[in-house]
Amino acid sequence: MRDPGRVLILGAGPTGLGAASRLEAAGHSDWLLLEARDAPGGLAASHVDPAGYTWDVGGHVQFSHYARYDAALDRALGDAWLWHERESWIRLDGRFVPYPFQNNLHRLAPAERDRCLEGLERAASRPLGRPPAHFGEWIDATFGAGVAELFLRPYNEKVWGYPPERLGVGWMGDRVAPPDLQRIRASVASGRDDAGWGPNRRFRFPLRGGTGAIWRAVAAALPRERLRYGVRAIEVDLPDRTVRLSNGERLRYDWLITSVPLERLVGIARGLSAASVRAARRLVSSAVHVVGIGLEGERPETLARKCWIYFPEPSSPHFRVTVFSNYSPHHVPGPGRWSLMAEVTETPYRPVRRERIASDSLAALAADGLVPAAARVESLWHHHEEHGYPTPFLGRDEVLAALLPTLERHCVLSRGRFGAWKYEVSNQDHSYMQGVEAVERLLGEGEEPTLNRPDWVNSGALAAPPATRHGG
Ligand SMILES: Cc1cc2nc3c(=O)[nH]c(=O)nc-3n(C[C@H](O)[C@H](O)[C@H](O)COP(=O)(O)OP(=O)(O)OC[C@H]3O[C@@H](n4cnc5c(N)ncnc54)[C@H](O)[C@@H]3O)c2cc1C
Repeated sequence: MRDPGRVLILGAGPTGLGAASRLEAAGHSDWLLLEARDAPGGLAASHVDPAGYTWDVGGHVQFSHYARYDAALDRALGDAWLWHERESWIRLDGRFVPYPFQNNLHRLAPAERDRCLEGLERAASRPLGRPPAHFGEWIDATFGAGVAELFLRPYNEKVWGYPPERLGVGWMGDRVAPPDLQRIRASVASGRDDAGWGPNRRFRFPLRGGTGAIWRAVAAALPRERLRYGVRAIEVDLPDRTVRLSNGERLRYDWLITSVPLERLVGIARGLSAASVRAARRLVSSAVHVVGIGLEGERPETLARKCWIYFPEPSSPHFRVTVFSNYSPHHVPGPGRWSLMAEVTETPYRPVRRERIASDSLAALAADGLVPAAARVESLWHHHEEHGYPTPFLGRDEVLAALLPTLERHCVLSRGRFGAWKYEVSNQDHSYMQGVEAVERLLGEGEEPTLNRPDWVNSGALAAPPATRHGG
């Protein structure tokens, strides 16, 4: 084991906590974690509103790709978990279509169903024959006109906040179900739902406290004296290897592991070239608004088992709504209550009226019949995060290839959702493991597979064998 010397960690989200946990496990005590906010969790924190409803920062579920992450979750919360069958749906034209859309075309009106099927058949018979130039071309070439126009294009434009022509294709991995024509035809012929796709069919959720309960528990297992909340790094002097904090202190490091959004890190770094600063300006992201709606009254029967619903249509501002009270009864302040959590993207290309976003979402859900007229709105919670999604924009990999190695030459490992800016490895499991693996790299024990080999990691190479996965 190599001695990494003094390690400073910026950010107490999953990445920073993964790094700190690994340093502790290695018996290396020369580290300090600095977090700008007053509590751990970052984007994976949870919040309780004044009416007593618990909210996450958008729909967070665990999709673990790592046996070691599963073990970390077990250590964090013991058996205080609830297990759920994934029920994800698409809301279109007043109907519910199970996800994935293309496998459940029988739920559409006959003319739309036939148009989608025809497009899929045509796409399968005329493969592109070269790599797609951008995500939009990939959608059209893989799914054909019907599925593209009804669901994939409008939905992706809503969630990313940019046209699919501005996105690359390398990030997709196992996230998008490839069309299986035989299966699609069978579902159309039988009229039966076919929703059994994906690595995340069953998932666990903390019994109490929302997703943030995990990260509070992970932080609580670390030595309190090495965690500092409410201090922001405001300058990183690369030649000096020091960090200046919002409280005036200056701290020295041998290695810095940071999950600060990369363009902000470059903004506070001293000693980088003008080319690096220019490269960082090319990074593209989107903000997310989360609207929590706490309701008293009867939950509609149609929402009784649904986990989350995708909304591709322009009639609603949100791209996804989670029936958050279905994840745990403790998310609501008492019996006879239920809750919905909507997510809205904001980008320069897709601006929103911030002051109206909560009421607009509620109105759209009411118009859609998902919030019944008889329900009483007890809480309307609005939360905004400037950094919501690290956009997989065209040209991203060149920017990252210029910035990340440059920072490493200065003993700075920029990791995690916005530290490394790789959407395909930016969930909680990936972020936690990016922190763990960054430390292992410093200890001379590994080569950071999550950062360097996302497809391999996402293929399940480091996952627990299915038979030993908790909850089946
Ligand atoms: C809408 C939405 C839905 C999501 N859904 C899922 C899901 O279903 N499943 C899943 O696994 N993941 C999901 N995620 C992703 C999950 O939130 C991230 O994987 C995770 O939070 C990233 O961890 P991180 O530590 O890299 O970054 P963050 O969580 O962003 O943490 C970074 C921390 O750094 C701190 N910081 C920033 N600047 C400074 C500074 N200058 N000085 C000190 N501290 C600083 C911040 O305050 C923050 O606490 C979702 C995220 C969003 C936004």
